[in-house]
Amino acid sequence: MHSVFTEFAINSKATRQDVERAAHKLLCCPGVEGVELFGSIARQGYGNDVDLILIVSDDLAQEFIFHVHRLLETKRYRHDQGKGFYGARALRRVAAAATLGRKKFNNIYAHASKWTTPHLIEVFLFPADWRKQLHELQAIYPHRDPEFMKKIAKDAVVLLDGKDRHPSGCVCEVCGGLG
Ligand SMILES: [Zn+2]
Repeated sequence: MHSVFTEFAINSKATRQDVERAAHKLLCCPGVEGVELFGSIARQGYGNDVDLILIVSDDLAQEFIFHVHRLLETKRYRHDQGKGFYGARALRRVAAAATLGRKKFNNIYAHASKWTTPHLIEVFLFPADWRKQLHELQAIYPHRDPEFMKKIAKDAVVLLDGKDRHPSGCVCEVCGGLG
C-alpha cells in the first residue's frame, strides 16, 4: 500500500519534458519572446510547481505590472494583497491574459496546461534583462521573502527563445495535436 501511494506521488509530478512541451505551446502566443523555468523542476527535473517566466518586451512587461496592480485594487483580488506576488496565482494569470490578449492567451494557456495537468502553470511576465533588475522587480512585486527575486535568478534556466518557435501551421504534437 505504501509503495502504491509513493509511486502515485512521484508519477503525478510534472517532469521537465512536460514543462518543455507546455513552454513550446506558450511560445506560440504573440508577444512571448522566450520561456524560462525556475523552482523545483528547474532544480531536480520534476516537481509540483510549474514556474515559468514568459519573456516579453519592456513595454509588455510594464503593462503586466500595471495589470497586476490594477487587479489588486479590484474587489475580486483585493484579498491577494496579503499573499504577495507568488501567492496571487489567478491574478497573475489574468494579468498575463490582459497583457497578451485575453482570448489568444487563454486558449494557448489551456492547451499548454494539458501537458502539466494536474499542475497549474504559474506565469510571470518579465523583460529579457530581468536578471539585471532584481532589486526593482522585488520592489514592484512585493513578497514575504525579501530574497524572492534573487532566488528565482539562482534557479532560472532558459528553456526556449524566439528561435525555437515553430513555424505557423506546424502540426507537431505540441502545435498541431493540441491546437
Ligand atoms: Zn510544432
